[in-house]
Amino acid sequence: MKKHNFYAGPSILSEYTIKNTAEAVYNFADMGLSLLEISHRSKEFVAVNDEARALVKELLDIPEGYEVVFLGGGASMQFCMVPYNLLKKKASYLDTGTWSSKAIKEAKLFGEVDVVASSKDKNYSYIPRDYTIADDSDYFHITTNNTIYGTEMRFDPDVKQRLVADMSSDIFSRPIDVSKYDLIYAGAQKNLAPAGVTLAIVRKDALGHVDRPIPTMLKYSTHIEKDSMYNTPPVLPIFAALQTLRWYKEMGGVAAMELKDAENAAILYEEIDRNKLFRGTTEMADRSIMNVCFIMAEEYKELEDEFYKFATAAGMAGIKGHRSVGGFRASLYNAMPKSSVEALVGCMKEFEKLH
Ligand SMILES: *Cc1c(COP(=O)(O)O)cnc(C)c1O
Repeated sequence: MKKHNFYAGPSILSEYTIKNTAEAVYNFADMGLSLLEISHRSKEFVAVNDEARALVKELLDIPEGYEVVFLGGGASMQFCMVPYNLLKKKASYLDTGTWSSKAIKEAKLFGEVDVVASSKDKNYSYIPRDYTIADDSDYFHITTNNTIYGTEMRFDPDVKQRLVADMSSDIFSRPIDVSKYDLIYAGAQKNLAPAGVTLAIVRKDALGHVDRPIPTMLKYSTHIEKDSMYNTPPVLPIFAALQTLRWYKEMGGVAAMELKDAENAAILYEEIDRNKLFRGTTEMADRSIMNVCFIMAEEYKELEDEFYKFATAAGMAGIKGHRSVGGFRASLYNAMPKSSVEALVGCMKEFEKLH
């Protein structure tokens, strides 16, 4: 049976990515050796690393003055690397969910943290809009897509302070104005590659302003100076990332992804709003096009388990909602084909007929 992959992360990758990565595990770049057993300093792998970083710059139209590096430790490591490298005295954070909260917790180890606004009062079902950022903040940190709660900021905010964004679950899903940001980071396992690498886009002049000593591996400049090869990088996730980036380019780039992703999300949200059994969990205006969260309508609550089993039996994988929201979550990352979204909608319609 055809499986439809709605996992939130690690999550669906393009067939192109999976196929080429599987082949390289057997025979990388016609070297007669596996990608898993060659030197990261071989010219063949250096070419992969360089092309991947160049393609990130091309696809996101990154201006001069920025560097792209692949780091270890997941997006979670960035929660401490960001303040380590950028927080002198005070930083401002927007609290829009579990990941923002975790970033805030780490930042507090390095200085004063001003949480400018939080949507925790309504279980993170919206993006706060009314807040002010202190003039003397070293940076303002946002999470553009809240993977767990299904809300998203699909715009690049205008702020006077340095802007830092966790884009782990929506990077490459729209064109962004990189010039508005000083640092963007994203764990690979949602829209790029298997887990094990984190993409960071760093404005070089944002670095070097803190006085504290920074451990070598946690310093952005270490990795920038060595062209993202200071130590052994995770070669397989980087190889896979390159395949995904090539595929994005082939498909028409991030603007094409945005059109496709928005269409997929619209198809599913339309069904959630129409179907009497279901309802969405977030403010309409802040709905994510990457992670669509929905629950059973009040009067059909007892059907939740049954729908889960019904949909799973029909090939829908990974639709269980995160425990902090409950219900269901269908993640519609860039590699998601429209046919899978239609299959899920078909399931919802069929289930409605049975009840
Ligand atoms: C998944 C996710 C993370 C955590 O990523 P790890 O690589 O597991 O550390 C952080 N932020 C967001 C927005 C995420 O979706």
